[in-house]
Amino acid sequence: MERSFTKEVELLRLGDGEVFEGEGILAITKGLLQAGVSYVTGYQGAPVSHLMDVLGDAKPLLDELGVHYQPAANEAGAAAALAASINYPMRGAAVWKSTVGTNVASDALSNLASAGVIGGAVIVIGEDYGEGASIIQERSHAAAMKSSIWLMDPRPDHERFVALIEKAFELSEASNSPVMMEFRIRACHVHGRFRTRNNRAPAVSRNHPLENPEFDLDRICLPPVIYAQEKHKIEHRFPAAIDFIRAHGLNESFPGRHDEIGIICQGGLYNGVVRALQQLGLADAFGQAEVPIFCLNVTYPLVPDEIVQFCAGKRAVLMVEEGNPDYLEQAVNALLRKSDVNTTIVGKGVLPMAGEYTAEVMLRGVAGFLEGAVPKGIDLVAIGRVTAAIDGWKKKAADIIGAPVPKRPPGFCVGCPERPVFSAIKLVERDFGKIHVAADVGCHAFSTLPPFNIGNSILGYGLGLASAAGVSPAFSKRVISIMGDGGFWHNGLTTGISGAADNHQDGVLLIMANGYSSATGQQYLPSSTLGGQRRPTASIQKAVRAMGISWVRTVRTYSVGKMVKTLNEALTSSARGLKVIVADGECQLARQRRIRPLIRKALAAGERVIRTRYGVDETTCTGDHSCIRLSGCPSLTIKPNPDPLRLDPVAHVNNDCVGCGLCGEVADAAVLCPSFYRADIVQNPNAWDRQIHHLRNSVITWLQRRAVRRDLVAA
Ligand code: SF4
Ligand code: SF4
Repeated sequence: MERSFTKEVELLRLGDGEVFEGEGILAITKGLLQAGVSYVTGYQGAPVSHLMDVLGDAKPLLDELGVHYQPAANEAGAAAALAASINYPMRGAAVWKSTVGTNVASDALSNLASAGVIGGAVIVIGEDYGEGASIIQERSHAAAMKSSIWLMDPRPDHERFVALIEKAFELSEASNSPVMMEFRIRACHVHGRFRTRNNRAPAVSRNHPLENPEFDLDRICLPPVIYAQEKHKIEHRFPAAIDFIRAHGLNESFPGRHDEIGIICQGGLYNGVVRALQQLGLADAFGQAEVPIFCLNVTYPLVPDEIVQFCAGKRAVLMVEEGNPDYLEQAVNALLRKSDVNTTIVGKGVLPMAGEYTAEVMLRGVAGFLEGAVPKGIDLVAIGRVTAAIDGWKKKAADIIGAPVPKRPPGFCVGCPERPVFSAIKLVERDFGKIHVAADVGCHAFSTLPPFNIGNSILGYGLGLASAAGVSPAFSKRVISIMGDGGFWHNGLTTGISGAADNHQDGVLLIMANGYSSATGQQYLPSSTLGGQRRPTASIQKAVRAMGISWVRTVRTYSVGKMVKTLNEALTSSARGLKVIVADGECQLARQRRIRPLIRKALAAGERVIRTRYGVDETTCTGDHSCIRLSGCPSLTIKPNPDPLRLDPVAHVNNDCVGCGLCGEVADAAVLCPSFYRADIVQNPNAWDRQIHHLRNSVITWLQRRAVRRDLVAA
């Protein structure tokens, strides 16, 4: 895993009245344990990957409490596991990244929501929206609404959201409906404190198993029961949820002295709103705002009378709702009109319809609202000065650097095993011309960015091959599809490979087997070997063959020449059907994390350690930089040409090089140039190393002296 929480999980043992101080994701986990959760499952993905990692590291504590934790094969599996709460009084939680995970889980979620639950079912979703996101920009709100799943968006304050986790289970039980809790990236990683309570061992669990299964036809999602279930949602569950939210004060109203105006915000955006007010001189350092705020910790369903009560008597209210469509703004407007309240709702307009409400966006939006509402007692000139100051700072920064700040797109890590595969595709394209490449989700998606720009579409995790189904028959050249081993086990084996095999789809599939679910933090997969330290539970090659695919090759990713040859063979083979190349190379980030402590230990023990590095002979380098265009490794950079008669900078390998060997391989496979050299750095050398070193030095010195003598004679 990317990160170990073995020390931090001790915080999960804190009891009544003790103080927890730590990261949001740990606090969420503590909240689940305090709420008496019986089982937890999920699928990793930012920003909630660490919740899965924390639970993995907390196994001894979970065992003591009897809590069952099981990572699911995908989000659909995680959602389906919540079935335990349909018939039994068991509190369960599922975790995933949204909206993509919610999309994958939606079938099971619809069934779960239709059947309803007895035990509290809470879905912790990492709302991956905004500038730190890695996925398509959509909101989970629509998914919650369409299935009658209640959506909580808690204020990012440890004390508050931990309390709300327990309330989420109670809400679920009171209204027999699943509840989603969305946490944005900042809430997951913000540090804070709260007073803890004892963990609650679940009444039904591995330690207290059930004896008899419960059968209730009303909880099966089949006609005619589904019609009654839909009615039950509307007539019982929905009003029960509204009653609970109101009765338990899940939403919060913060008063302020400028009460002719107000702000309604999603709970997750509360801190941003208060920060904007602070900067505008309308809130103090402790977050006490002068403008009343209604904080929606539950964004679906809304409690009509709460909204009406907050807005009544106000001239204008700002609705702060991130993303689109503006569900809340529309709903608030409709509620007020039905109640004959004439408050003007301002939202999209002063705030943008699309994109994250960053600090600057929020500040300008709140300022725009105040300037439009012209509230008594607020100095609008001072407000204007704050926004003008931002423009001034931006202009000053632009003047200093002379140009807009360059973008820094993400890229493969130094020495990534996936980079060589795309170098190989570039080389193949020299002979074949451009090839349609159906790309996929994962680190390998960086291939679509410079310097490779390989990949014509991305349709979803594990869907690279499936997305080529329509393209393949329409192209004269074979199409290449990409799939990671994470995507393969998530769904690619069934959605892509079984379909392709069954339909005799012709084409080439590259499976990037880096050994982990790397992009989400190096979680293990059924085929993970950890460089030989773990016994895999399944084999990619065997699974592919089991689907009836016979053309399967495994190639070490760093062997660029062999990869080029195998790709050529796959693209030109007379054999019809799918040709699968398993590109095998351990995630370099995970490898470095695995071997660095071992190297440190070996060095401390005085053992001989060899480190491989690559370099460029600057006197030979021509400065055409084709190596950089074919590699893209961040370690491969440029530096001034030492020859005063040559202006082009030479290629240079900096100190971050992990010696993966790609530089040498590319230079060789592309017949580039002889500039690259390999150096083995020997630490704690033995007697033989020293003798060899001495001998080499003597020979080099002799050769250098001879060259100098020749130059002198020639002069
Ligand atoms: S995390 Fe691993 S697979 Fe992903 S870019 Fe880095 S080295 Fe490559
Ligand atoms: S050998 Fe080349 S590609 Fe590999 S890490 Fe070093 S500089 Fe990067």
